Amino acid sequence: MKSLTTKKKIRLSELHSLKTELRKAGLNTVCESARCPNISECFAKRTATFLIMGDICTRNCKFCNIATGNPLPLDANEPEKLADLALKMKLMHIVITSVTRDDLPDHGAGHFAETITALKNKITGSKIEVLTPDFMGRNELLDIVFSAGPDIFNHNIETTEKLSAVIRPAASYTRSLNVLKYASGKAEHVKSGFMLGLGENDDQIARTIRDLNNCGVNILTIGQYFRPSASASEVVKIYSDDEFDYWYNYSKSLGFTHVFSGAYVRSSYMAGEILKNPPVSGKTGSTPGSEH
Ligand code: SF4
Repeated sequence: MKSLTTKKKIRLSELHSLKTELRKAGLNTVCESARCPNISECFAKRTATFLIMGDICTRNCKFCNIATGNPLPLDANEPEKLADLALKMKLMHIVITSVTRDDLPDHGAGHFAETITALKNKITGSKIEVLTPDFMGRNELLDIVFSAGPDIFNHNIETTEKLSAVIRPAASYTRSLNVLKYASGKAEHVKSGFMLGLGENDDQIARTIRDLNNCGVNILTIGQYFRPSASASEVVKIYSDDEFDYWYNYSKSLGFTHVFSGAYVRSSYMAGEILKNPPVSGKTGSTPGSEH
């Protein structure tokens, strides 16, 4: 009991100073903005998820709590600032995600690449995971990201094909699959995920999992949708642990190397463990986020 208390105190004081550093640098982590309960555990494990390119999105997904509007110009110093802070935080697994920037000619691909490069230059041996928008499905923009060498490429399909038009009106199920298919020829690990509870049926879930498998995705996350605000889509169904287990087993039977299936599983759940450990199943994770 004594050592547990001591460990917790160390983590809390460390967390406090890391949060102060984040504020000073003007950087956002999804860990904080989604009020993730695993934040101290993740920071202690030297893992964090950063939201780059601002906090205003050009799209309007119905499950997401991020503001829609006209984003501010990019901060050209953000990649270096982020790398400096990640070094200070002694992070070794860094997840980079962003709002969608359809206002930019390259949709933010160059900024992703600069951020990956800055991190790799500054932190020897660090592992970088990117959770990206679809870059309008333009392969030449995806190549800009791949040229920087992310260790894991993640793009979320978010929901089934039938619900995509309603839930992600500015995105496209097919476009997202094409992004993942292209990524599977470029990155060692390709990850995607979706939420349950938006009104899908079992056939549509199975088909989504098979589609992701056929596109070469090897890491899959399945979580429960929780409504982030009154204007977001309603929760149609809360899935049981047994149902999440069923979809875990179904996915594993298709050959995914890593599957995380559980109510609180989100994209970044146990992100750092994937490159360290053999395949595992996840049953808990972060709070509702606003990730792609
Ligand atoms: S999920 Fe991504 S693209 Fe959709 S509104 Fe949220 S930040 Fe924008």
